[in-house]
Amino acid sequence: MTNRERTNYRTLAGRCLCGAVDYAVADEFVYAANCHCSNCRRATGSAFKPFAGIERDKLRITKGGDNLMIFGDENAHDTRCRVCGSFLYSVVRDGAFVHVAMGTLVDDPTIRPTGHIFVDSKAQWFTITDDLPQYGEHVVVSRPVGG
Ligand SMILES: [Zn+2]
Ligand SMILES: [Zn+2]
Repeated sequence: MTNRERTNYRTLAGRCLCGAVDYAVADEFVYAANCHCSNCRRATGSAFKPFAGIERDKLRITKGGDNLMIFGDENAHDTRCRVCGSFLYSVVRDGAFVHVAMGTLVDDPTIRPTGHIFVDSKAQWFTITDDLPQYGEHVVVSRPVGG
């Protein structure tokens, strides 16, 4: 891909609740989904986690790099603001990708979650009411062509 093509992409801002941490991520997410696994429920305190995946080097911390709280290993961890606890993103896939917690994005990304994953582990008290495809466990949901 040429530099000229890359300049067509926007950069999205993200922020924690208290404002101690800002990040910037390219609007080039490769996939996005709503994860209903029990780990994501506990990590977010919510019914599911909407996340968007992108190569790790396309996200950078623009403010508050010394205010990060890392839970996990170098190449597999959750990153939060250590002041307010906001769940910002996870480093996954042997450190190659990050899964951005979409609720911390300030700007509207081009991508939308394209499915529900780990529905077999879904909270009984939550009912999925949209028409997105549902997958029992993990699946790689890729960006639709032209989407
Ligand atoms: Zn914060
Ligand atoms: Zn999950």
